[in-house]
Amino acid sequence: MDNLRVLELYSGIGGMHYALQESGIPGQIVAAIDINTTANQIYRHNFPDTPIWNKTIEGITLDDFNKLSFDMILMSPPCQPFTRIGLQGDIADLRTKSFLYILDLFPRLCRLPRFILLENVKGFEKSSTRDHLVKTLKECGYTFQEIMVSPTSVGIPNSRLRYFLIAKISTEKILDASPHPTKSNSPEQSTALCPPHPGTCQPEEEMQEGHILYKLETVMDAQRKRNQNNDLSIRQIQDFLEPRMEVNMEHYLLPPKILLRYALLLDIVQPTCRRSICFTKGYGRYVEGTGSVLQCCMETELESVFRGLDQYSEEEKLQRLLKLKLRYFTPREVANFMGFPQSFSFPEQIAIKQQYRVLGNSLNVVVVAKLLQLLVF
Ligand code: SAH
Repeated sequence: MDNLRVLELYSGIGGMHYALQESGIPGQIVAAIDINTTANQIYRHNFPDTPIWNKTIEGITLDDFNKLSFDMILMSPPCQPFTRIGLQGDIADLRTKSFLYILDLFPRLCRLPRFILLENVKGFEKSSTRDHLVKTLKECGYTFQEIMVSPTSVGIPNSRLRYFLIAKISTEKILDASPHPTKSNSPEQSTALCPPHPGTCQPEEEMQEGHILYKLETVMDAQRKRNQNNDLSIRQIQDFLEPRMEVNMEHYLLPPKILLRYALLLDIVQPTCRRSICFTKGYGRYVEGTGSVLQCCMETELESVFRGLDQYSEEEKLQRLLKLKLRYFTPREVANFMGFPQSFSFPEQIAIKQQYRVLGNSLNVVVVAKLLQLLVF
């Protein structure tokens, strides 16, 4: 197979670039485009030879794109317009503008790329932006698949349910190489990468109803977590941890203020667990729903700390909670969950909170690598 020329849009810290490497598809990133200077610094640190365009996408002309002459586009357009917590502005949201610009320009490219992979959050599949994308792809002669997948499907103990679209131009279209739209006969398909594991692909944000056991957890929550932890096709958290000696506990232990205020909202996991919740860009700053925390002291049982916690004084509460030695996962560990290779690193000057922020915006490299293989081979 020829060396593909790959365009990486909304490139962030280069999750797509790592996925391309991991997939084994011969290719080179001809341009990585993003407006976030911190993310670009990290990208450059890891891929010094890749051309990075620190520009807004809507400021790039058709001519510039034509000159890049690419065979594949990898992209993760901004997801806030589609998230359930966001305002769901969809097509009207200003952050969608650059993506609509690409869709508008796309049919006018001199040479259409053979392959496309797009990543977005759950919710995108119901947006009119998605309908617009699908319409453009059909008009340009692509066949495509839409897939919802979480890293648990590839054995990683982390939930990150995301929408993916992979598209391939139909063969006639490549031979024809005409930029004018024709209708595709191939039906669109919606398939899952692997059959979802029972209970593992459910978004954890969707609180189940039922009787509360302790720590605001219902019988159903507890059962779901138990099912996840018993699923042997998923690896254990401990496989993703840094060696104990290398974790500076002072930086990562949850401070007393957070413990007292948010203890009941924390998603706590142990090294033998086979689950964790999605790490988002607010990890380490906000507590609820931003990612799991790790219990480092196994001698203390979670239940013994949390049962009847409310009846104690603040001081006693704190003493009980401290026994668990709860800590945040380090950015390196979050990167491990997200499938980043050991060669990935941050430049020294990037603060820990910034590291969490860019990782939270990124993607699971292993999942995307598998999808790329599905698309190309
Ligand atoms: N896949 C990336 C992250 C994508 S998050 C990774 O692996 O890190 C979306 C990215 O789009 C953010 O980094 C943001 O800075 C960038 N972005 C948003 N709007 C943009 C625009 N109009 N032009 C260029 N980049 C943009």
